Amino acid sequence: HAACIGFIGLGTMGREMARNLLRAGHPVRAYDVRAEAVAELSAEGAVAATSPADAARGAEIAITMLPDTPHVEAVVYGEHGLLESPPAGRVVVDMSTISPVAVRRMAADLAKAGIAFLDAPVSGGPVGAKNAALSIMVGGSAEAFAKARPVFRAMGTTITHVGAPGAGQAVKLCNQLVCGINIQAICEALALARASGVDLEQLRHVLLGGSAASWMLDRLGPQMIEGDASAGFRIDLMLKDLRLVLEQAGALDVPLPGTALVTSQYIEARAHGEGANGNQALFRVYDRMTGR
Ligand code: NAD
Repeated sequence: HAACIGFIGLGTMGREMARNLLRAGHPVRAYDVRAEAVAELSAEGAVAATSPADAARGAEIAITMLPDTPHVEAVVYGEHGLLESPPAGRVVVDMSTISPVAVRRMAADLAKAGIAFLDAPVSGGPVGAKNAALSIMVGGSAEAFAKARPVFRAMGTTITHVGAPGAGQAVKLCNQLVCGINIQAICEALALARASGVDLEQLRHVLLGGSAASWMLDRLGPQMIEGDASAGFRIDLMLKDLRLVLEQAGALDVPLPGTALVTSQYIEARAHGEGANGNQALFRVYDRMTGR
């Protein structure tokens, strides 16, 4: 039988992930602070829940997919939260990108109450979420991982247990710094190509056929070239991730000059009102720098 899942956080990523759980035959109890997000999922077969506790009621596993650390902490520690009212299966899985320090604290607090916690952040964007093709990196006990694995299978294709609590986030932060610096590299190439009078779509085609090919160039390149700033992965969420990278690097005395530079550019982008736009809008920083 497919386990009943409490799913909390039905945004860009969570709504697609919850849909895939429904498709795979899992009963889903769905909750979000936005009533319209809950209504959308309940029209597709989920049970509409009225709080995190209500989403967890009778579920094997409760999954959170929320913007940032304080949102996950509110759902775990808050009134009608998961610490007070855990799922029947006593497994909580956070799939957001949040602080590894906060993860270790939550894992310890939940463990004291006999509840297992996994940090299981994802990579692959809204398209990966929609196609159940996410890469899922998981920190926590092997026992909890074994219980959650069939559920991860309904949402992703690359599912890897990478270590103790917080290890999933540590791997995700490495993923994000590669994404951020790669987006910056593409912006620089487009800025130079445009100034050189080169056709940008042709440039993209050529790069994709050689050793400069990347996921970002493939997925975000067309939007950069067309000047389409609409969000899949928002600038403000990436800035949150880059700050987490620098926090982790600072605590461990690891110099990350590339990440520090691109973080400044994301701060500039947000200061220019791009926070709610997609990551490809980093190209506008280069528009301003080049005066084009
Ligand atoms: P989003 O802002 O679109 O969705 C978050 C959802 O959480 C919203 O629907 C919001 O209403 C809800 N929410 C906020 N606080 C809540 C609370 N206290 N209780 C219940 N619901 C609450 O964000 P997203 O793009 O889906 O990203 C979610 C997480 O996944 C983030 O940590 C992000 O960094 C990460 N992520 C995003 C992408 C992407 O491409 N968008 C890819 C990989 C990972």
